[in-house]
Amino acid sequence: MERGEFQGWLDGIERLSSAQRRRALAALSGERVERPERRVRADGLGGSGHSKVEAQGCPHCGGRDIVGWGRANALARYRCKGCGRTFNALTKTPMARLRKKEQWLDHAKAMIEATSVAKAARLCRVHPSTAFRWRHRFLGSPALDKPWTLTGIVEADETFILESFKGKRSALRRPARKRGGKAGHPGAFFENIPILVARDRQGATFDAVLPNVDRASIHAALEGVVTPGNQFICDGGRAIVAFARKAKIPVHVVPAPGKPLPEAPHIHINNVNAYHGRLKEWMRRFHGVATKNLPNYLGWRRALEAWGDQATPKNWILGAIGMGPYQQLTP
Ligand SMILES: [Zn+2]
Repeated sequence: MERGEFQGWLDGIERLSSAQRRRALAALSGERVERPERRVRADGLGGSGHSKVEAQGCPHCGGRDIVGWGRANALARYRCKGCGRTFNALTKTPMARLRKKEQWLDHAKAMIEATSVAKAARLCRVHPSTAFRWRHRFLGSPALDKPWTLTGIVEADETFILESFKGKRSALRRPARKRGGKAGHPGAFFENIPILVARDRQGATFDAVLPNVDRASIHAALEGVVTPGNQFICDGGRAIVAFARKAKIPVHVVPAPGKPLPEAPHIHINNVNAYHGRLKEWMRRFHGVATKNLPNYLGWRRALEAWGDQATPKNWILGAIGMGPYQQLTP
C-alpha cells in the first residue's frame, strides 16, 4: 500500500464502529472473516453499475464470483474472489476516474440531444473543455459497440464524410491548397473519408471508417459480420462486389437505388441509404469533425439509433460503461 493510502487507512480507524473494529482486528490477526453485508446499495450510477458487473463479471479476470466490498468515491466497490482484486463498475472503462458523477445524467441528456459542447457545459455546470473531454469519454464504449454479426438480408453501401483537419494542420495528408490554385487531388480519398454501413432488416447496423474503398478494406471491416449465410445487397460498386464474391456471400446488385424491380421488391438498399442520410444530416451540427474522432461520432449515431425510444440518460450511461445495446446481446 502506498504511504498516502496507508495514512488514509489509519485515519479512518477512529471512524470505525465497534463491530467494524472487531472485524478489523480479526482480519489483522489473520482470522478468516466472512463479510456480513453481501448486498450492495445503489450508488451514483443508479442500478447501471450493478447490471454491468452482473453481466460482465470481474474486469480483471472475467471471474463471476463477486462480492460487495463497500464503496469509494460514491461508487459501490466489488471484490472478485477469483483474483482477489477490487473494482467498481467503471474500472477499465473510458469512464474510470472521471469526476462529478452527479452531473453525468445531465451530460447523458445533452448527448442524447446531441447539443453543442457549450450547451452541454452550461447544462452540467462544467467548463467547456471538460464537456468536450466528457463527450469523448462518454463515446469510448459506444464507438466499439457494434453488432458482432448481421442476420438475413444485409444492405451495404459506402458514403463519404468530409474530412476536417480542425486544429490539426500538421496532420494534413495533402499539401494546403494555394489560393486560386486548383485542388491537387480531386479524388474522394483526399477530400472525404469513406464510411461503410451495413444494416440488416432488423435494423442492426454495423459501420466502419474505411482506409480505402477496396476489397481488402471492406473485407477487414465486414469479416465475420456478414457471412455466406446472409443475402448481401449492394449497388454494384466494384470493391464491395469483389468482397462478397471472394467471401462466397450471395450478392444481389440493385439495378438503381430506390427502384427495386417489381419481381424482387425486397432487393434494395433504401434502409442503408436512409441511414446515411440521417447520419449526415445529424452530423451537420458539428460543422466537421476531426478524422481521428470520426469513429466516436459514428458510434454516437449508432447508439442513438440502436437505443431508439429507450435512449434515456440512464441507458446512455449504461452504454458509456460498456453495456450498450449491442454489447448487451453479446454472450
Ligand atoms: Zn477477478
